[in-house]
Amino acid sequence: MKVTKITSYPIEDSTGRGYFFVKVDTDAGIYGLGEIGIRNWGKAIANAIDHLAQVVVGQDPWATERLWQKMFRGGFFPADKVYSCAISAIDIALWDIKGKSVKMPVYKLLGGPVRDKVVCYPHTQGSNLKSLIENCKKAVDDGWKFVRWGQPETGGLLEAPGEAVLEPVESIMLAVEQVEAVRKAVGPKIQILLDVHTRLDPPELIQMCRDLEPYKPFFIEDPIRSENPGSYKLLRQHVNLPIAAGEQWSSKWPFREVIEEDLIDYARIDLCIVGGLTEALKITHWAETHYINIVPHNPLGPVSAAACVSLCMASTNVGVQEMPRRPGSYASDLFPVQVSWADGYAWANDAPGLGIEFNVKAAEKRIVDPTGWPPQLRRNDGAFTNW
Ligand SMILES: [Mg+2]
Repeated sequence: MKVTKITSYPIEDSTGRGYFFVKVDTDAGIYGLGEIGIRNWGKAIANAIDHLAQVVVGQDPWATERLWQKMFRGGFFPADKVYSCAISAIDIALWDIKGKSVKMPVYKLLGGPVRDKVVCYPHTQGSNLKSLIENCKKAVDDGWKFVRWGQPETGGLLEAPGEAVLEPVESIMLAVEQVEAVRKAVGPKIQILLDVHTRLDPPELIQMCRDLEPYKPFFIEDPIRSENPGSYKLLRQHVNLPIAAGEQWSSKWPFREVIEEDLIDYARIDLCIVGGLTEALKITHWAETHYINIVPHNPLGPVSAAACVSLCMASTNVGVQEMPRRPGSYASDLFPVQVSWADGYAWANDAPGLGIEFNVKAAEKRIVDPTGWPPQLRRNDGAFTNW
């Protein structure tokens, strides 16, 4: 079996939500699917995929490790985030092909099952305290065991669409008020996750975590920016809450320091940025030697979700899986079969490969320009700050 073609599918679903999928074809009539983690860099990543196709087309799709090494290192300069996104999608598609070619689900090829199902958390943010509490209570009523929302903005939409204000000291006061109110509303058995989303610097974060301790959040996510993993040493000395980080890291290498020095409690591996299942599996096993559990980052579509759930079903060290919305409740015309979900848990289907189905014809009608920008945040003084 040989790879014959790699095609990019930057598409929108019927609600206008964007995705970037990659389809890898073979001469055996089997294809695999992958997904891109940073869709807004669409054209650059589409070009990287075309470039990497020169390495992968004509090769045996079973040689995932060899192809990963060639894709990551073949240009002599180690792959950056644009290339690692492209590598991720191609690698996940190759694993899908491997499973389909031997009629086995990917989680079994990875060593699973370790567990029957994977506990997941949804996104439950609200535009104000009342709607946040309502959304969290609704999630609990729907069966989810976790609630999660982001570090609050302190000013709404401004003159420019998609632009808002985040002033750190005001934001941490709001966050503490939110966590206290949600804890009261959902009770002690539901886990609370606060995603700081790299919006704070260490002194603000340390103060906020002290104030949050009585409400026992399950973890604090991405407490600071990701460029300098060594900064987590400072947090470790002053923060008494579990820390989750890693969704912006694009290979095993940035994870090295935080795993080896026990600087994080949960590894937020993004399979569609980090280098696919091949790289995520290595990080997961490495984290196991430090009793660090994985919480795969999955804000994307059905292919990412299926790859994450497959990894969690094959890994012993899993905290919880991000699953923004219930699988099957969105983009179901594009993906008529997605991972299964019930009562707050997801599991991979026992169908070959990733166990999902893709409507290629429907996708071809939904191609869009993937290049764009996320919402932009600024401080009260006008300075840029992370979204
Ligand atoms: Mg996050």
